[in-house]
Amino acid sequence: MTVSNHFSQALKVASSQAPHIKINQPKETSLYLPGTECAIKSGVSLASLTSFKVGGPAEWYVAPRQLSELEASFEWAISKDLPITLLGAGSNLLVSDRGLSGLVICTRHLRSTHFDPQTGQVTAAAGEPLVRLAWQAAERGWQGLEWAVGIPGTVGGAAVMNAGAHNSCTADTLVNAHVLCPDGSIQVLTREDLGYSYRTSILQGDKRLVTQVTFQLETGADPATVMASTAQHLRQRHSTQPYNKPSCGSVFRNPKPHAAGWLIEQIGLKGHRIGGATVAERHANFILNSGGATANDIFQLIRYVQYKVEEHWSLRLEPEVKILGDFQPV
Ligand SMILES: Cc1cc2nc3c(=O)[nH]c(=O)nc-3n(C[C@H](O)[C@H](O)[C@H](O)COP(=O)(O)OP(=O)(O)OC[C@H]3O[C@@H](n4cnc5c(N)ncnc54)[C@H](O)[C@@H]3O)c2cc1C
Repeated sequence: MTVSNHFSQALKVASSQAPHIKINQPKETSLYLPGTECAIKSGVSLASLTSFKVGGPAEWYVAPRQLSELEASFEWAISKDLPITLLGAGSNLLVSDRGLSGLVICTRHLRSTHFDPQTGQVTAAAGEPLVRLAWQAAERGWQGLEWAVGIPGTVGGAAVMNAGAHNSCTADTLVNAHVLCPDGSIQVLTREDLGYSYRTSILQGDKRLVTQVTFQLETGADPATVMASTAQHLRQRHSTQPYNKPSCGSVFRNPKPHAAGWLIEQIGLKGHRIGGATVAERHANFILNSGGATANDIFQLIRYVQYKVEEHWSLRLEPEVKILGDFQPV
């Protein structure tokens, strides 16, 4: 894949000539990638696309449905020298109220799974919901993803974040991830290449984009048993974590030896509120959009919690949530 003049020239401007778009000033403009029905739109609000339900518009936004459209979108942004932001299910993101400049590529329509009974490997496209993959594996009696059932992200997001729960994580079963590189090539990265540790991989802050992931699972168990164990994981989460209000799950990484939630709870911050953002009563490492929160409310509350924890415990909590765009300094 190369960035060609022909590509740029063939780009069709659907409603008007491509203007210089200022974020926060959405305009009805769509560009169609040549030979596809894939529209790149301007000024698309990101609030409904993140689990916090906050955030301003993307300067440019695209949601490709197949790999060729993803590649063309990537190529388009590179040819225009635009910054690129990857959005999976948006379940670990805090997007600024001012929105994001450049192109936001949303992977959630890139869905497919292939279960290979010969090898016990399952390959899923980047936008496949992790929860759906976990249930599909359980229905076949394939073990190894039961822990993932409460994580509302995509397979691509999980590979980047090394998402995990119940003492298991993505790296445990990941065999390899295919990544699209800025030069248009596809690399196959193994678990070792990805440099995994707690909620971390080399892909965080990287320009490469995960297109698919292969996991090695254990086949041959009784599907009813794997389904029951998966359901048990889900029940346990629902009884200990607040799923009824928009959030990003745990806001902070857990420092050792204590969990971030415990440190926050001990200094009486449960229920603390800034604007529409509240530290959850049920789990102090969750911040909830308890109605009408702005991204800035959530950001201010994150900084406040960090400040109070540092004041009391002399340690700085590190956000697990990815904070994107401009925020008012505190
Ligand atoms: C209620 C709730 C519970 C949660 N519980 C857990 C939990 O138990 N354990 C846990 O680990 N997390 C948990 N999370 C957080 C979140 O679901 C995970 O971090 C998840 O892996 C994020 O996936 P995503 O698709 O939503 O990624 P996003 O939030 O969209 O993106 C996360 C990061 O990955 C990048 N990214 C996404 N897709 C790609 C791609 N294809 N290629 C390259 N980069 C990409 C983004 O640019 C961003 O930097 C929870 C969230 C919520 C809302």
